[in-house]
Amino acid sequence: MAAYRLITKILHAKFSKEDAHGSLHMPVYDNVTFEFKSAEDLELAFQGKKPAHMYSRISNPTVEHFEQRVQAITDAQGVMALASGMAAISNTILAICRTGDNIITSKHLFGNTYSLFEQTLKDWGLQTRYADLTQPQEVARLIDEKTRAIFFETITNPQLEVVDLKALSAVAKPRNVLLIADTTMTPPYLFSAKEFGVDLEVISSTKWISGGATSVGGLIIDYGTYDWKRNDKLQKDAVKYGPFALLNRLRREVYRNIGACMSPYNAYLQSLGLETLPLRLDAACANTLKIAEFLQKAPQVKSVNYPGLKNSAFYQIARKQFGDKPGGVLTFDLASKEQCFAFLNKVKLLRRATNLQDNRTLILHPASTIFCEYDAKLKQEMGVRETLIRLAVGIEDYRDLIADIEQGLEGLR
Ligand SMILES: *Cc1c(COP(=O)(O)O)cnc(C)c1O
Repeated sequence: MAAYRLITKILHAKFSKEDAHGSLHMPVYDNVTFEFKSAEDLELAFQGKKPAHMYSRISNPTVEHFEQRVQAITDAQGVMALASGMAAISNTILAICRTGDNIITSKHLFGNTYSLFEQTLKDWGLQTRYADLTQPQEVARLIDEKTRAIFFETITNPQLEVVDLKALSAVAKPRNVLLIADTTMTPPYLFSAKEFGVDLEVISSTKWISGGATSVGGLIIDYGTYDWKRNDKLQKDAVKYGPFALLNRLRREVYRNIGACMSPYNAYLQSLGLETLPLRLDAACANTLKIAEFLQKAPQVKSVNYPGLKNSAFYQIARKQFGDKPGGVLTFDLASKEQCFAFLNKVKLLRRATNLQDNRTLILHPASTIFCEYDAKLKQEMGVRETLIRLAVGIEDYRDLIADIEQGLEGLR
């Protein structure tokens, strides 16, 4: 039988065990523990010699089913679902780095990720080096024997910068540096990370995947492309577990001990969300382009930033990497912070809220919210201007969205 195509695969992932009642949806196993037939079975399970669920902080049937569905559509070596996107990022870094190691990234980074690297993990001896990731030579110069990974976002938020992944991976691969992509803005279906040399994908499934802000969640997707013998901390695991070294270390140590597991109920919601991902993504991306084109013509708008616009500096590379759907977020500049606030206060349909890819369109002034803890200089380095507004576009009828934006802009300069 021919292999199913992606959308079909998303909907028809098999259960790992037949359900006792023939349920078509994986039920919510919202339980803590699992009973064993004998002391011997318990021992084998705890030794990892016989796969079984033992305790829901470590693994759970509903969470596992969600992981397997993501695995089926990505052809990954393995997938791990966690409590949040931040849990996915922190668990990953804690599993691959020791005190004194470094990672390379850009200051064009989700605010909390920057804070994780610069505050939380810095105190434990992780060094973070910042480069302009669109300049591969600059990245190459920062790599040394303690560099464990290059970490980047496929479309940065809110700068909407797109890195050329072939160029970045040409720097990482010969130097044996792990390439980690935060693909929150471009999840599977929209983007095939492995094709572009990404070894490890981390996602805030809170955003696109959850099905419209139903729940918080995160994913780690390991493509099995990185030779873990090259990682100082995972060398021994690599000898024993080969390409499963990281996943094994997570499950049997870091993920288990940190305890940021996904709740079974959230896994159920996120599985439902996954089923409609392609439909929602198509609708929101089409809306985003229409709104971007409208804003380009509005005299009050000083500039519009969306990689799907032909005059965007990232149009060509976005097209190569994401086809005709470069995400559902756009930003634009008005004349001043005051004008931004006036606009935010005037819109009626757009919701003033922080999140991305809710089913509803959300509007935010990044400089005074997500980035408010940073001083003016750092905000400038991060590309967060006081005149910038972010729209995370939903799946409403675009004509209603444009009408609301139009009335919001009336009377502004
Ligand atoms: C939201 C977000 C995160 C954090 O995800 P949570 O699920 O909120 O923990 C990480 N990276 C990016 C790009 C995000 O947008």
